[in-house]
Amino acid sequence: MADMAERVVQSPVNHFTVRAIDGQFAGKDFISVDQLGPDDVTRLFEVARNMESIVARRETSDLLAKIGVAILFYEPSTRTFGSFSAAAHWLGASRTLEVQGMSAYSSALKGETLPDTIRSIEQITAYDLIVLRHPEDNSGYEAAHYAKVPVVSGGAGTLEHPTQAMLDLYTIQHKLGRVSGLRVGMLGDLKNGRTVKSLGRALTMMDPGAQFYFIGPEELKMPETEVHGFEQRGARVVQTPDLQSVLPELDVLYVTRIQKERFPDTQEGQALYDSLKGRYIVTPEVMKEAKPDMIVMHPLPRVDEISPEFDADRRAVYFDQMGMGLYIRMALLALLTGKD
Ligand code: ASP
Repeated sequence: MADMAERVVQSPVNHFTVRAIDGQFAGKDFISVDQLGPDDVTRLFEVARNMESIVARRETSDLLAKIGVAILFYEPSTRTFGSFSAAAHWLGASRTLEVQGMSAYSSALKGETLPDTIRSIEQITAYDLIVLRHPEDNSGYEAAHYAKVPVVSGGAGTLEHPTQAMLDLYTIQHKLGRVSGLRVGMLGDLKNGRTVKSLGRALTMMDPGAQFYFIGPEELKMPETEVHGFEQRGARVVQTPDLQSVLPELDVLYVTRIQKERFPDTQEGQALYDSLKGRYIVTPEVMKEAKPDMIVMHPLPRVDEISPEFDADRRAVYFDQMGMGLYIRMALLALLTGKD
């Protein structure tokens, strides 16, 4: 009976669905922030705080001692891959399979499909959870559909990066003491960037009255479907190419890089990228117009969109932000395997 009433979240690409968390993490996939409600985020943050103390004590926990974790990445990564790996090891997981070069070194190169690879990994490892990063928008839903064990998205195409959104939210809570009533500017490649979409959904879930300023060139605008979704939940959205005109309003400026790898691999694609890069650069000079108690975030890696001279500013929180990823990913591994 409980199953009949269970909320599911549908892929925007096809009919695949994942179960909402709704108070019960154990045994579920985590593919989209839309699976969460405010109480789930509260629980996640509570467990993340416990994880902070495990790391602060420099002790390895044995929560995941009997758990096996496969971490499969088809796209480059420093932070997400590294922190999932570290998270598993801080929690005592001795059974891990960690492959960062799936596109180059797995049977994907021989033409194997994602469903076949996922089923193979399950069979050959007998592990309990799979973390997947993949360039296809639907990859998380697809992997979750075929896997018997929980699948966690470590970033899917241009659409979702749910664990990044949670660490972003945790950072905002940490730095500003709240995740609602905020004026949030998102700057850069809002068309191809997945972090801004997941964070936008997470913020509107926590605060239906969120105020967004989407800042960037016309060619890299936030897709209309996303803007519509935010507005339907009650958010107010301002779109502008002019950073300086909105900067004084902001509590958070979330900067993103232009996603070079998602431009067409043609002369025109390259020319477009060249014409857009370097158009917005956050410098100490630019930031004179911003409030003294606001924060500047970035999911990283940065290319040239924040000058290193700004790093010493107390509003620059992007290095602390990535550190939060360890605690959030530890918490998620524990919660999804029922070992919290
Ligand atoms: N690391 C983030 C991601 O995987 C941001 C980026 O690559 O620009 O989406």
